[in-house]
Amino acid sequence: MTILLEKATRQHTKEHNHRLVLRTIYDAITVSRAELARLTGLTRTTISEVVGELIVQGLVEEVGQGQVGVGRTPTLLSVVDDARHIIAIDITHSEIKGALVNLRGAIWRQAQLPLGVQDSERALALLFPLIDSLMSVADRPVLGIGISSPGVIDTGSGTVRRAVNFNWHDLPLRTMVQARYNLPVYLGNDSHMVALAEYMFGRKEDTHSLVAIKVGRGIGAGIVLNGKLFQTEGFGTGEIGHVVVDKHGPQCKCGNFGCLEAIANIPAIVRRAQELATREPASLLHQLAATPQAITLDTVVQACVAGDAGVQQIIVEIGQYLAIAVANLVAILSIQRIVITGRIAPFGDLLCRAIQQEVAQRVLPELAQAAEIEILTQGDDTVLLGAAALLLTNELGLVRLIKRQEPQAATSPATMPDVPSLVASNGQPSYKKRRPVA
Ligand SMILES: [Zn+2]
Repeated sequence: MTILLEKATRQHTKEHNHRLVLRTIYDAITVSRAELARLTGLTRTTISEVVGELIVQGLVEEVGQGQVGVGRTPTLLSVVDDARHIIAIDITHSEIKGALVNLRGAIWRQAQLPLGVQDSERALALLFPLIDSLMSVADRPVLGIGISSPGVIDTGSGTVRRAVNFNWHDLPLRTMVQARYNLPVYLGNDSHMVALAEYMFGRKEDTHSLVAIKVGRGIGAGIVLNGKLFQTEGFGTGEIGHVVVDKHGPQCKCGNFGCLEAIANIPAIVRRAQELATREPASLLHQLAATPQAITLDTVVQACVAGDAGVQQIIVEIGQYLAIAVANLVAILSIQRIVITGRIAPFGDLLCRAIQQEVAQRVLPELAQAAEIEILTQGDDTVLLGAAALLLTNELGLVRLIKRQEPQAATSPATMPDVPSLVASNGQPSYKKRRPVA
């Protein structure tokens, strides 16, 4: 028993040291063995041993000599950015996207397949061919698969407990994918991935905690606390969309009445604009759409930007409802950085001010003043990068993907093989070669 315990402890220490050394080299970009010993507190012997193993694994390489100082010129070490590729998947309500991502978050290949409305069966039918296709062009060992799915995710078991808009219940997505590819698979929801991506890639390098609230068809929050994606042993962290904010509000897809999501999601905004156009003949919306039914999110954004008072009032009210969730998160977690993102982002400053003003009414002045609320336009790749980051964090212990430097591309995109085309019955996938992420 004692021998087994000692063996387990040794193995644990070894894994810990490997992660620590790899992460330190990764963060430093280039570093010598002596500097590594200083930064990690490990002995020179241990550093030599661990670095040797990381070089054999192809994760680390010697990249030249350091500055000449006193004594020998040190050999510098660096992480091989393209040592492994990650398959990142983003399942949304309108499409399923996939990408091959390297260790620095550079996207080498990307593919997407369109989905019809509530096409939940099709989403599953397309997932494997999409992963197969990315696998077939990966010319590096694949570290694993990170998947973002909408809904309430039990990250422990890798199960989608409930995705209201897809009508998924207890879908064992991780088991399904793992069984086929025999690779590590991590699953998270889209809001969590946005938070992780914003933490890893966002402009605020000094922020160690943040909340990202994503508003689209669904509304959810992802929370990074002290550098880690906050998840409890249960599931449903950040499921703010189904908190009732008005008992007399409209019925939500979850069955309850007056959920934040039912009142403030994108379809709710469009519906309210359509109602406004129906009762207000003078509304600018009439100039932008032939009929109230033809009003889309773009129409609402245009009317808002053009100064339509009725539309702007809708957005202010939506902001006030979102502020209820923001105020609660600020008060409970004392988090100072809150980003609002998703398809609601084009409402920009007007929405941001409405949220800020309402939060100021709802929490202690000290908390409200410290809270930095920002509307962020989410890039197309944000969720994919979050899914890649989830895998890197769990498998290699890497925390911040990118220092603010252009990542070095180990492979010229020109040498990448062509991706085989994947024919979908309702459309062709579009494959793109991507430049490394800046
Ligand atoms: Zn609900």
